[in-house]
Amino acid sequence: MTSSAMTNGHVIQTRALTKRYGDVRAVDGVNLEVRTGDVYGFLGANGSGKTTTVRMLLGLVLPTSGEAEVLGRPMPTARSSVLPRIGSLVEGPAAYPHLSGSANLALLDATGSDRRPRLERRNRIAISLEQVGLDPADRRPVRAYSQGMRQRLGLAAALMRRPTLLILDEPSNGLDPQGIHEIRALLLQLNSQGTTIFLSSHLLAEIEQMCTHVGVLRSGKLILQEHLDTLLQPTGLATVRTPDVAHCTSLLGGYVVSVDGDRLLVRAEDPARLNAYLVAEGVRVDEIGPHRRTLEQVVLEAEARA
Ligand code: ATP
Repeated sequence: MTSSAMTNGHVIQTRALTKRYGDVRAVDGVNLEVRTGDVYGFLGANGSGKTTTVRMLLGLVLPTSGEAEVLGRPMPTARSSVLPRIGSLVEGPAAYPHLSGSANLALLDATGSDRRPRLERRNRIAISLEQVGLDPADRRPVRAYSQGMRQRLGLAAALMRRPTLLILDEPSNGLDPQGIHEIRALLLQLNSQGTTIFLSSHLLAEIEQMCTHVGVLRSGKLILQEHLDTLLQPTGLATVRTPDVAHCTSLLGGYVVSVDGDRLLVRAEDPARLNAYLVAEGVRVDEIGPHRRTLEQVVLEAEARA
């Protein structure tokens, strides 16, 4: 482990990572930075290159150019030492359809380098299945599983070796809202226990609700990479909702940035002070607070700049 990556806290780092398929630049000069303890949301529309990037991180696809390091080791060169230490889920997790979920995990476990006693292995299979909301006693073959159950089984497989890093491609694919909620809670719990999580998604809300960092891919290019708190910090404006729009607008004059129905956007660093002023002037205030952009607005602005 001589690489600089582990000393500067990166668990994933790529430099100018590029994958071309003929004329298509599926991934184009991407510099990813994921640090220990992050929940990193890798966002992008269908076809933007997320899966190709994930596959390169896992050493399943060779880059055309550029470099990728995972756990401080170059991929795909160090694949055999890196993969046993991470948990991964890529599109369409594979399983033997005629076997049950636990039989599939037992097979997977048997192919690993782990030499722990059989009872301990069996316990771990049951724990992994329970963690993702599957019943370890369920004897049904995987071919009878719904897509959501298959996705959960893929996640259970990723958790089997209690990895310090999880790389998940669209983990909520095929899950209903309750399932998405459960998996999110599980991932956050794992993260609070020290697991770094890198997950791709095309769902803004999913990223907004669980991630500490966000990277946005568009046509293979990383157009944004930032701490989520930084992106969503107050903008220096206040939103005011009032039935007295005309009175409020005439009072605040040039400080009013926009009016939309009963909502005003006002230049004001201190909404509490603005509230006191408005109330003293006889303006009824239904709602007031610091204005923050939504992740959707942030992404749209980044796309407009790109
Ligand atoms: P999705 O969410 O739909 O899977 P994605 O963001 O994961 O999208 P990729 O699957 O990485 O995107 O695809 C990025 C681009 O690369 C697309 O234009 C796709 O058609 C192309 N591509 C991906 N894999 C291959 C391949 N094996 N051969 C040729 N083109 C490919």
